[in-house]
Amino acid sequence: MTTKNDYGFETIAIHAGAAPDPVTGARATPIYQTTSYVFEDVDQAASLFNLQTFGNIYSRLTNPTVSVLEERVATLEGGAAALAVASGHAAQMVLMFALLEPGENFIASTKLYGGSITQFGVTFQKMGWTCKFADPDRPEDFKARIDEKTKAIFIESSSNPGGVITDIEAFAKIAHDAGIPLIVDNTCATPWGCRPFEWGADLITHSATKYLGGHGNSVGGVIVESGEFDYAASGRFPSVAAPCPAYHGLNFYETFGRFAVTAYSRAVGLRDLGPALSPFNAFMLLTGIETLPLRMERHVANALKVAQWLKGHDKVSWVSHPGLPDSKYRELQEKYLPRGAAPLFTFGLKDGYEAGIRLVEAVNIFSHLANIGDTRSLILHPSSTTHRQLTEEQQNAAGAGPDVVRISIGIETVEDLIADLDQALSQV
Ligand code: PLP
Repeated sequence: MTTKNDYGFETIAIHAGAAPDPVTGARATPIYQTTSYVFEDVDQAASLFNLQTFGNIYSRLTNPTVSVLEERVATLEGGAAALAVASGHAAQMVLMFALLEPGENFIASTKLYGGSITQFGVTFQKMGWTCKFADPDRPEDFKARIDEKTKAIFIESSSNPGGVITDIEAFAKIAHDAGIPLIVDNTCATPWGCRPFEWGADLITHSATKYLGGHGNSVGGVIVESGEFDYAASGRFPSVAAPCPAYHGLNFYETFGRFAVTAYSRAVGLRDLGPALSPFNAFMLLTGIETLPLRMERHVANALKVAQWLKGHDKVSWVSHPGLPDSKYRELQEKYLPRGAAPLFTFGLKDGYEAGIRLVEAVNIFSHLANIGDTRSLILHPSSTTHRQLTEEQQNAAGAGPDVVRISIGIETVEDLIADLDQALSQV
C-alpha cells in the first residue's frame, strides 16, 4: 500500500508497507525465511554492495518480511524511515552507535525501564560512552548537564513502570538549542497513545516485544527517524554526516538525507554489530500491530478502571496511574497521551514486602512474570525479583521499594481482573 499520511491510524496499522505477494498473490505478508538473495548479475551485486541500489543481499541487513514491519512502524509514528532489530535493547545500542563516538556522552531520564538504566549506565561504558542521568520532572537539570561531548537526550514518553509522563516539547527545545537530537522511547505509550515527532522528537525507539507485538510471543525492537534533524549543521555527528571509510568515503547524510541515521544503522550498525530481527518474529510483530489500536483502547480503559478500584482498597496505600485525578502527571498525560494513560502502573501495599510476595502468589488470572504489554494481565513485585540485588535505599530510588507492585493490564474482562485482585488482596 502507498503510505498516504491521511489514512487513519487503523488503516495504517493493517496496510502500511504491505501488498499482495507479486508472485503468489498471498495476502498476508509471507515469512521470507531466507538468509540470502541471488544477484541478477555482477554489476547489480556491485551496486548493492556500494549502496547505490536498494535491494536484498543478506538477511542480517535486509529481509522482505522485516522491511514491511519497518515501513509499518515508520508510518504509524509519522516518521521518514525505520530500522527493525532483534530487541528493544538492540535498538538502543544500534542507535547510540550511530550518534556517539568513544569518549562522548548522552543524558537520560532516571525514570526508565531498569534494564535501560543498566545498559546505559554500566554496559555502554565499555563502548567509551557515558550516560548522565537526570530527573525527568526537571528538564532544566538535563540542560545543565549538556557539554560539548553530549550527543543526545533520551527519555521515555510514559515510563516503565511508574507511568511518569515526560514533557516532550520542553525536552525537544533543550536538545535543539544544544544542536542535539531528542530520542523518545515510545514503548509503553505506543504510537496510538503518543505522537513524539509531533512534539519535536527526532528519533523514537521501541521494544516491539511489548504493545506493538502485544501477545507476549516475540522479542523485537525498532528505531524510527523523523527525517527532520540536521546532522551536518554542527559537524558533531561524524558517523552519520562525514565520509565513511568502510564505504569508500560515502557521507550518509549527504547521500540519504532524511534516512541518514536509518541507513547508517543498517549499513554499519546492523552489518557489524549484527542484531538482526528474524523474519518469523517480524511476521508475528506485524500480525500483532494489525490490532494495536483495538487492543490499546481496551488495555487503557481496563487499566484506568483497575487503578480507580485499587485506589479505594484499604490494603493499598497509593496508586501511580497518571489518569487518576490526583496524579501529578495528569496535565502532561492529557497533553501527550490524550487517549488515556498507558496500561502499566505501580501501586503500594500498606503491609510492604511480605504483602507483595503474598499477592503475586495468590493471583489466578494475572501472571507473575517480568514482562509488560501482553494481552494477558501481568504482575510483578520488583523488590523480590528484578530489583532484589539492590539495597532498600537503591530500590526506593528506582521506584521499586519493598511495598511496590507493578501491573500491566491486559484485555481480559475487567470485572474478572478486579475480582482476581480482590481475592488475592484478601489473602494478603
Ligand atoms: N524500553 C522499555 C520501556 C522496556 O520496557 C523494555 C523492556 O522491558 C526495553 C526498552 C528493552 O526491550 P527488549 O526487552 O525488547 O530488549
